[in-house]
Amino acid sequence: MNIILAETAGFCMGVDLALRKLDALLREPEVSCPVFTLGPIIHNPQVLDHYKARGVRQLDDPFSLRSGQSVVVRAHGIPKNIEQELRARGVHLVDATCPKVKKAQLLIARQAAQGRIMLLLGEADHPEVRGLLSYAESGARVLESEEDLEAVLREGCSPCFLAAQTTQDRKLYDRMSRILRRLDPDMPILDTICAATTNRQTETRHIAGQVQAMIVVGGRTSGNTRRLVQVAEQSGIPCFHVETLADLPVDSLRGLNSVGVTAGASTPADSIQGIINHLKSL
Ligand code: SF4
Repeated sequence: MNIILAETAGFCMGVDLALRKLDALLREPEVSCPVFTLGPIIHNPQVLDHYKARGVRQLDDPFSLRSGQSVVVRAHGIPKNIEQELRARGVHLVDATCPKVKKAQLLIARQAAQGRIMLLLGEADHPEVRGLLSYAESGARVLESEEDLEAVLREGCSPCFLAAQTTQDRKLYDRMSRILRRLDPDMPILDTICAATTNRQTETRHIAGQVQAMIVVGGRTSGNTRRLVQVAEQSGIPCFHVETLADLPVDSLRGLNSVGVTAGASTPADSIQGIINHLKSL
């Protein structure tokens, strides 16, 4: 069987960095467990189990933290007021916000300081979006579609600027940018989309065009992994979402000449390698 493994499969830079910061914290002799994360540090149950066994606990309510306790801010970042409150309480805060999300927060704060209202392409309930909104101190509207943008323009919104959640679709963002630039050629359009997601999807599409079946490795709760499954399915070949080796549809794969493998941004390298090894044994 010819196996094509995507070069973009597995941890993105932000996830890798967040886990390395958590590992470094757990190695510090003066840090006592439990160590907390605000929400899951990563959308992968096997990785979460591994950290749970090492004394890491997930927390939904940041305000239950007390002085001296340690918390890791995950790659999505957190709202500014929560960060300030935790620091004021004397919580040991390890900021593992992805540098690309941090850059978006700072660019947004700079525009907001000039009195501009943010138009943000993003999912209203996403933790990254909640964090970004906290930096838009002159006001903000969250847009999930071009229709949302048209509705905002009908109501009137000025002066404003456009930004996007880092994982948003580049083509949709470009279309929105063009609409706004036609109305105001000087409107600030922030460059906040991360190429990691787009590159992964482009490579998945490319590999799916060369193989008989695709395997996407990653957690079932991972949004970007599920999106990769959809992208692969659009190519018209069978696609299997595999969280662990036990999910591998061995009978369906046996006898195929070529299989493509990719993985979401929260899938560890050893999970991917385990699947590859098993495929080779077929
Ligand atoms: S997808 Fe991009 S912005 Fe999001 S955590 Fe990964 S590197 Fe950072």
